[in-house]
Amino acid sequence: MLAYLDSHLRHQSTSATSVPTSATSDDEISSTSVPTSDDEISSTYGSDFGGIVRTRPAAVIRPASAADLAAAVALALRSPTLTVAPRGNGHSVAGQCQSDAGLVLDMRSLSAAAPFQALVGGGGCALYADVSGGALWSELLAWSVAAHRAAPASWTDYLDLTVGGTLSNAGVSGQAFRRGPQISAVSELEVVDGHGRRRVCSPDSDPDLFFSVLGGLGQFGIIARARIPLLPAPDMVKWMRVVYARFEEYAADAESLVNRTGSDAFDYIEGFAFVNSDDPVNGYGSVVLGPDNGFDSSRVPPGSGSMLYCLELALHYRKGESVDKVGGTEVISDGRSAGFADTSVREWTVLSCSGYFCYFLFCILYFLLQRAEEMTRGLGFVRGLEFGAEVTYVEFLTRVKRAEEEARANGSWGGAHPWLNLFVAAPDIAAFDREVFKKILKDGIGGPMLVYPLVRSKWDPRTSVALPSSEVFYLVALLRFVRPHADGPSVEEIVNQNRQIVDCCRSNGYDFKMYLPQYRTEEDWERHFGADGWSRFVERKRRYDPMAVLVPGQRIFARRE
Ligand code: FAD
Repeated sequence: MLAYLDSHLRHQSTSATSVPTSATSDDEISSTSVPTSDDEISSTYGSDFGGIVRTRPAAVIRPASAADLAAAVALALRSPTLTVAPRGNGHSVAGQCQSDAGLVLDMRSLSAAAPFQALVGGGGCALYADVSGGALWSELLAWSVAAHRAAPASWTDYLDLTVGGTLSNAGVSGQAFRRGPQISAVSELEVVDGHGRRRVCSPDSDPDLFFSVLGGLGQFGIIARARIPLLPAPDMVKWMRVVYARFEEYAADAESLVNRTGSDAFDYIEGFAFVNSDDPVNGYGSVVLGPDNGFDSSRVPPGSGSMLYCLELALHYRKGESVDKVGGTEVISDGRSAGFADTSVREWTVLSCSGYFCYFLFCILYFLLQRAEEMTRGLGFVRGLEFGAEVTYVEFLTRVKRAEEEARANGSWGGAHPWLNLFVAAPDIAAFDREVFKKILKDGIGGPMLVYPLVRSKWDPRTSVALPSSEVFYLVALLRFVRPHADGPSVEEIVNQNRQIVDCCRSNGYDFKMYLPQYRTEEDWERHFGADGWSRFVERKRRYDPMAVLVPGQRIFARRE
């Protein structure tokens, strides 16, 4: 098949080819079914969730093994121009998973060929999942909870993203302040580098490759497999939202909460800015957690500004655990999970068979509520604007799936998504609020405007991610949804507004980095990484992908002949 694809690519320049594969050797790809149509290739593999960058791949390969990935890289290396783009679930927003006139690897097919595997380590105390780079986090959650009552420590808000896609960026959500981003919660990778070599790496074995690939924007290797530590999965989550009228109070509370440790710490902390109006998308309607949760706007203090802030908190609970452990399961220093035993499963079975079950559940919920109240006492939110819900852990983690269903129904999921994500240093976040949220974005963006703190010491400086220099920095995520044919600003106007925000950060000298960066010039990339970070990034590229075959859609390095 490799020979077929090789000669086909040399003889065609306009039509695209789809090649499902299964490996037979390290430098051979063998086809198992017929190519799909040109239209499908261009619409699916020549675009992404952002819906702004359009390209036309020369061929789409559906790999079935790491050997197929290596063979695809070897094939590209034999041509003077071909590039290779692994495509996870295509949720990039600026063409990062695309390859114009190059090879696109559909990583979902790799996942279909590789079932999840559980491994026990750490003297029987630690559990790991070995998963394909093309597996979705939602699939890993469903499998690990059902099969092992365990789950990864760190998540993204939305789970239909691939393991390889988020590990190439960072993977952040409300657990990251405590557990680190997803790139801090992985213990081994199998990678195919830009030489076409298959390598297994970890913090102890080939650490330079391991840390280069994490947050490496796909530039140093294709993640074929990842080993993810699993922790005991909570059963229930107490989910809370509280509202602030003043940003300074919001930020002070959020920062004090991310610095709490031990049983005083929440399991999840996020937050967002919203418009002080009854607009269902940008305003009060974005805060409520369900139909029973009305937003009483008479509680908003008189004289409040155009923007309000919502802090979102969660506490985990595992059935069969004593209530004072509600603050979350602990990880001991070498990464092994404490108390990873099946006793709680047995307790649960016994309890569910007994007449005491309802009483037990009632007590738990009562203590959970009491504990939540104790832990939020002293915070400066507006009284009377608190919202809460008790949901299962899986319901909590898959909460954005419900938003996806609504967005699909109203057409905004399929529209363009000119998203902008930034990390802004804590010392600059109040100024950012004044200049960006309160001025440029005062009317909202037609989607969530996340702003919540993260802690730098939970990020390993050996990874390739660029971060602001302060210990606490904020994720600012402008998650814009543009409805096709609706009134409102055009995509171009929104992209210009994003540019205005970045210019505002630069001209005011804020310490910030773009997350999921979308730069176009070498000068911008160099500024993004900083002088030392850029030399390290360039050196890593020279070492692991000197011909710049991998991931052209990031637009960092040009393919070398
Ligand atoms: P793709 O978009 O397919 O690929 C992303 C990049 O990684 C591309 O450059 C691609 O070539 C490369 N790549 C893909 N697979 C591999 C691999 N196996 N090995 C090496 N490189 C690879 N991010 C967060 O951190 N937190 C969130 O809460 C969050 N929520 C999101 C919600 C939605 C609805 C969307 C659309 C995005 C969200 N993101 C979030 C951003 C998301 O992490 C990135 O868009 C990520 O790249 C998407 O993963 P994907 O699997 O779709 O990757």
